[in-house]
Amino acid sequence: MMSDAVKTPQPKAGILEINAYKAGGGQFTGVEKLYHLASNETPHGAPQAAKDAVANLVAMPTMSNANGGLQDYPTPGSDGLRAAIAERHDIDASRIVCGNGSDELLNLIGNAYIGAGDEAIITEYGFLVYKNVIQANGGNVVVAAEVNHTVNVDNIIACVTDKTKVVFVANPGNPTGTYISGAEISRLHNGLPADCVLVVDSAYAEFCHEDDYSAGIGLVEAHENVVMTRTFSKIYGLAGLRVGWCYASVNIIDVLNRIRGPFNVNEAAQVAGSKAIAAQEFEAMSVAHNDKWKAIIFQRLNGLGLKVTPSQANFMLVHFDDSGKTALEADRYLCSEGVVLRRLEPYNLPNALRYTIGSDEANILVLSLFEKFMKM
Ligand SMILES: *Cc1c(COP(=O)(O)O)cnc(C)c1O
Repeated sequence: MMSDAVKTPQPKAGILEINAYKAGGGQFTGVEKLYHLASNETPHGAPQAAKDAVANLVAMPTMSNANGGLQDYPTPGSDGLRAAIAERHDIDASRIVCGNGSDELLNLIGNAYIGAGDEAIITEYGFLVYKNVIQANGGNVVVAAEVNHTVNVDNIIACVTDKTKVVFVANPGNPTGTYISGAEISRLHNGLPADCVLVVDSAYAEFCHEDDYSAGIGLVEAHENVVMTRTFSKIYGLAGLRVGWCYASVNIIDVLNRIRGPFNVNEAAQVAGSKAIAAQEFEAMSVAHNDKWKAIIFQRLNGLGLKVTPSQANFMLVHFDDSGKTALEADRYLCSEGVVLRRLEPYNLPNALRYTIGSDEANILVLSLFEKFMKM
């Protein structure tokens, strides 16, 4: 037996296999202005009404404990926020759970449905958080191959065994930006056992307006085993406040409500989220900006001999294969000029960069830098 002196606390099986999530970043020296286009944040800031709501919260008098100022616990079930979400999407507020970012909801789903030795399926370029959630719960990660950087339903269904508890699919995907149709998501659902949870992560739904796309609301309403997750971090500009939500069957919602922290969404996030989701003009402006630049960036980078995966999100996957250059060289050059895109080694795409669509100013700069770089 080991003596107490050398014993140290040991985490549960699987946890030390996790590669801690690393946010997009970069190294710079001496750049005047930094353009961080690595985390899919919006270039437009938060909607004004959301900022005002946070300012009002901060300005509340401190002497009352009925006002909901910073000294008071937040509304426990995010009631006002759920009502605002329900109104915006015409869905049932009692079947919504809000979270400290949708990351928290993904973790709650894992905590509730994945145990040691269970299997959960992700796709080849699936969001890295899924893998961490599965491993944190002692589950085995099963990876379904994608085709042309796009989720492939047949490949996922072929991975299903009687141990499969959860399938995670981002639609549109990150870091690919590709999507599959609502009919394909339904076909995926049909191929899963009724006791397997299908998580449809629609973090970028607001940016996708293909006619055959569906964020998953109808599928949730028709079935017991589907969860749709959404976030305020992307189009609504609230990544720093951490707020997301999910929509699911009564049974799944009951389970998630049992295990979430009672005050899991802070009050600033709740009031800002309620205003942001109602800011439809802001949303339309953001989408128009994104559509405009998506087309320009695609065309300009293609013209420079770079392959760009067609995107339904607020970022572009730029490939350097057959371009005579590498993603690493491009990243070094862009960083030296103050532009940070996302390196994709952790996603097994070492020769690609993910470019989050920025402000007019940022995009003009990035495109001119790409032009210079490709001529070097
Ligand atoms: C950004 C992103 C999220 C959002 O995470 P939050 O915790 O809500 O900030 C979820 N899923 C995917 C695929 C994402 O890219």
